[in-house]
Amino acid sequence: MYKKFLFSLLLLHKLFHTIFRDKMAKIPHILIIYTGGTIGMIKDYQTNVLHAFDFDHIYKSIPELNHLNCSIESISFEKPIDSSNMNPEYWEEIARIIQQHYSRVDGFVVLHGSDTMAYTASAISFMFENLSKPVIFTGSQLPIGHLRTDAKENMITAIEIAAAQMKNGRPKVAEVCIYFEYKLYRANRTTKTSAEQFEAFTSPNYPELAESGVHLKFNKPALQSIGNGKELIYRRINTHHIVLLKIFPGISKEVIQHLFNLPGLEGIILEAYGSGNAPTDPWFINLLKKALERKIPIIDITQCIAGSVMLGKYETSAELLKLGLINGYDITTEAAVSKLLYLLSTNEAQHKLKSLFESSLRGEITAV
Ligand code: ASP
Repeated sequence: MYKKFLFSLLLLHKLFHTIFRDKMAKIPHILIIYTGGTIGMIKDYQTNVLHAFDFDHIYKSIPELNHLNCSIESISFEKPIDSSNMNPEYWEEIARIIQQHYSRVDGFVVLHGSDTMAYTASAISFMFENLSKPVIFTGSQLPIGHLRTDAKENMITAIEIAAAQMKNGRPKVAEVCIYFEYKLYRANRTTKTSAEQFEAFTSPNYPELAESGVHLKFNKPALQSIGNGKELIYRRINTHHIVLLKIFPGISKEVIQHLFNLPGLEGIILEAYGSGNAPTDPWFINLLKKALERKIPIIDITQCIAGSVMLGKYETSAELLKLGLINGYDITTEAAVSKLLYLLSTNEAQHKLKSLFESSLRGEITAV
């Protein structure tokens, strides 16, 4: 009798488990952070100008969001902005939202204008150490309300990626990324290369992290390994006096002199030619020397879209190596700017700025 009772209890338990298994399985919870950009814009047909629209508009425009296998919640900037108006204060606003909700949600999707998305997403990647949840930036080239919009696919797949989990419930992606036009990129490897094609971004020096076709295919070896169990560390980035100087044949001494003599200048990023080469004119070398004597770090990056700086490979960069310029290797301009601002904002890092800049902090350069 007792055995029978136990047996039926066991059966009941099994039945209950099978029926409710799916219902009880925890579905991922995703937070969408809407900052502005074309993705949430609407056309004023009287002036032909695009204006930022209310976030509700995005929800109404994509009813498909309700059918995703995850729960979604959203937070919007009080005044959504065109990303040309982005700055470190807004980076801070995005980072604060992520930090506040980090332990509660499974992943983040940041809707952002494409113009400066690579700068913001790179900055966010530096601001968080030991990230173990996905932060996926996306946007679009055409407004959400447009007939041929790329916004829907970008947004839906970005959410799917943020919600993608392994069997053990851990996220498949645990880093800051940009998803655009069927491809997932490491944020700090990405650059905007087209002002009008749907495929607006490229990651010239690092493979794509995932591709979306009939299936979502993740490039596992390229992904950042998932969390080291250490606590999330958040550091803010402040505004600093830095110069981004793209050299060109015939650049005048007066212009460079003026820029380098700015009182309070804290750093220079030199967008040099090819593998980091620059003019060997004595006046140019002298201006670099003087800046270095004032303890202003100078970072040598390449203006080429792909490939790496190799200081000392040519005579035109041998002097730069001797002077002690910082080697930016294959870093993108966007990551170089946000990394320099990040290191200047972090007191302890300033003493070892050269060695930190030359090492990969968040997978932004190919370690040598
Ligand atoms: N100007 C827009 C922005 O970056 C372009 C876009 O959203 O793609 O905010």
